[in-house]
Amino acid sequence: MTSGPPAEALARSLAARLPAGTDLVTDPDVMASYQGDRTGFVDAAMPAAVVRPRTTAEVRETVLAATQLDMPIVPRGAGSGLSGGCAGLPGCLVLSLERMRNIVAIDPDDLVVVTEPGVITGELKAAVATHGLAYPPDPASVDFCTIGGNIATNAGGLCCIKYGVTRDYVLALELVLADGRVVRTGRRSLKGVAGYDLTALFVGSEGTLGIVTEATLRLRPAAAPPLTVVATFGSLAAAGRAVVEVARAGVVPSMFELMDRETIRAVESWKSFDLDTDAAALVITQTDAAGAGAEEARRMHAVFEAAGATFSYAADDPSETDHLVAARKLAYPALERLGAVLLDDVAVPRSQITALLVAVEHVAVQHGLRIATFGHAGDGNFHPTIVYQHTDANETARAVAAFEAIVGEALRLGGTCTGEHGVGRLKATLLAAEQSADEIELQRAVKRALDPDGLLNPGCILPDAGRLALTGSAADA
Ligand SMILES: Cc1cc2nc3c(=O)[nH]c(=O)nc-3n(C[C@H](O)[C@H](O)[C@H](O)COP(=O)(O)OP(=O)(O)OC[C@H]3O[C@@H](n4cnc5c(N)ncnc54)[C@H](O)[C@@H]3O)c2cc1C
Repeated sequence: MTSGPPAEALARSLAARLPAGTDLVTDPDVMASYQGDRTGFVDAAMPAAVVRPRTTAEVRETVLAATQLDMPIVPRGAGSGLSGGCAGLPGCLVLSLERMRNIVAIDPDDLVVVTEPGVITGELKAAVATHGLAYPPDPASVDFCTIGGNIATNAGGLCCIKYGVTRDYVLALELVLADGRVVRTGRRSLKGVAGYDLTALFVGSEGTLGIVTEATLRLRPAAAPPLTVVATFGSLAAAGRAVVEVARAGVVPSMFELMDRETIRAVESWKSFDLDTDAAALVITQTDAAGAGAEEARRMHAVFEAAGATFSYAADDPSETDHLVAARKLAYPALERLGAVLLDDVAVPRSQITALLVAVEHVAVQHGLRIATFGHAGDGNFHPTIVYQHTDANETARAVAAFEAIVGEALRLGGTCTGEHGVGRLKATLLAAEQSADEIELQRAVKRALDPDGLLNPGCILPDAGRLALTGSAADA
């Protein structure tokens, strides 16, 4: 879609309402890069305007100007999302937080960092590391996603099996609400139970309830350097069993990732990591238990052998470890190179991992499609990724059917339609398959209370007017 005269008129009216000096973008060539995220499968409209505020006051003025004009507001971090959460809507204002990039304070006594939302997650992690501290959440996109986006999606990542998800680290937030109020929720102390937990409510609200302008995040002392154990398996079932057996052995790894054969081959065909392209599954695990890492690594190695690993070894060379983790982080970009992709993000209880992996294989055969699966096996969180030709209408329709079938399998196994990427616009229509009408209505009530005119990221999470459904156009996938 392109911006027509109404969008231009909106942009002019907006410019007239914004304080002088506000960074307002209306050039279509520049705005095109703010149109979508990395999902590729959700239609994204050219915004009417993009504003890149530098301060909370500028965010507030922008929100007030947009709501006066009845413009939908789409908050945006780095646009690395995988659920269409910041996809443009017709006539919308994209509010990009990328210029709010200050780390306000790192406090080693209180074990907190106070940060603006546009800070790249990897940069925040590096900054706190210079104080001997760690901010554990580590999405595979850590080098290019923002803290604000992580908070808005409650991002997970590679270390959740031991360290939890973003929400576990958010102590307090400053937000701009739809009516322009600047509010603070939460606290700086590690403990505190006063009132409803509004901070937790905003975390994962995907830009639909308020705009995060500052966050106070919990830190931990830096962990010991991890030891890595890798293993290959001749079947997905054996790899799935290994996940359960490691937990039964009482080991809590700091990472437990899996790549199936299709994923291994996609990565190897791009960059040579010397991975076994015949293995049904490769698992990459780490332990960082202080003083007990070697023992935990030994036990995982033994569990993998007992579970039928075709090959298993402990990598003690840090550069080899980095190499393996880098291979895992390239899974999605490697698949993106092979065609249009429709990436899923389902999670199941650990006991159902094997059942899910086998079900995904059946879905691939049934629909005659190539589906590569990788993900955070230790959490039961997988990204079955359908690779298809978007120019082939029949194949695209089969891809959509397979995508929905995979979600159906995850729900049947007691899981969820999204483990970490969020509902966004991609899965807004699927939410009702997971949650009851009462649960959805409660969420609508919260939305109405905070955003009665429905201007904050409409159609994201809760299907709504302006919703962008799963269309299968995937023009840029
Ligand atoms: C290769 C690759 C690997 C990935 N690996 C992981 C992974 O391991 N784990 C994981 O969880 N995700 C992963 N992701 C998905 C993505 O990186 C995360 O969802 C991330 O949290 C999005 O951050 P962002 O800054 O890019 O946000 P965006 O994509 O810009 O926005 C995401 C959502 O947050 C909202 N938003 C952004 N900033 C704000 C704000 N300040 N206030 C309110 N709302 C806001 C947007 O409206 C949108 O709904 C991966 C993506 C890629 C491309």
